[in-house]
Amino acid sequence: LDQQTLVTILTEIAELEELKMQAAHTVDQNAAFTRKMAELQAEYDEDAETAAGQEQNKARDLRSFEREMETVEYQLEDRREKMIGVTDRRQHQALKKEIAALELRLQELEESAMACLADEEKEGHRADQARRERDEQRERTAGEKEDRDQQSAALQERLAHIDTDLHRLLSMLPPLERKHVERLMEKLDRAVVTLQNGACTGCFHQLPTQEAINVGKGRMVVRCPSCRRYLVHASWK
Ligand SMILES: [Zn+2]
Repeated sequence: LDQQTLVTILTEIAELEELKMQAAHTVDQNAAFTRKMAELQAEYDEDAETAAGQEQNKARDLRSFEREMETVEYQLEDRREKMIGVTDRRQHQALKKEIAALELRLQELEESAMACLADEEKEGHRADQARRERDEQRERTAGEKEDRDQQSAALQERLAHIDTDLHRLLSMLPPLERKHVERLMEKLDRAVVTLQNGACTGCFHQLPTQEAINVGKGRMVVRCPSCRRYLVHASWK
């Protein structure tokens, strides 16, 4: 295998590795998006649940006030009926006092119930809004999540093809180069990178001018003296 053919194979490897890196990056980004949206949705769900719980608390308080009011009203009716038949002055006074206390209690309960009803309504509105926001958030992200899931699935498939192509190219390399490339692939993100403004795009090491010229000509195999990656000229495509 002559040097120039070797450089051609390495250039193809560099292109595939670049594609692979980009695809993997997008897949990662999509996964991060999904994770973040799930976290956000959990927060919205929790808010809706908390708001619903608060509304239920107020409803329960209101029922308890109403029950107590019923009891007090029943007691009031009972004392008022008793008053009718009472002739004893002290007994009459005692009942009157009791009725006044019950009336006061009923008034307090009515006020509390009114306030509680207003609170319940307010909490009800809040709960409705929280539910709406939760559902809106779910709808908002569902479409984008689906798009990203589809994109990731397509990219996974593409990554598999890229790997197949890389294997084919690797098998074309002489044993020594193949070993080097495989070793670099294991340890680094890419084994073959392009040169940009005379610098290795893998580690940003500036190459000696003559070496950079050699890479540009594409007639001999050049490795970065710093990271040991193979260097090729950026594609002419
Ligand atoms: Zn380098």
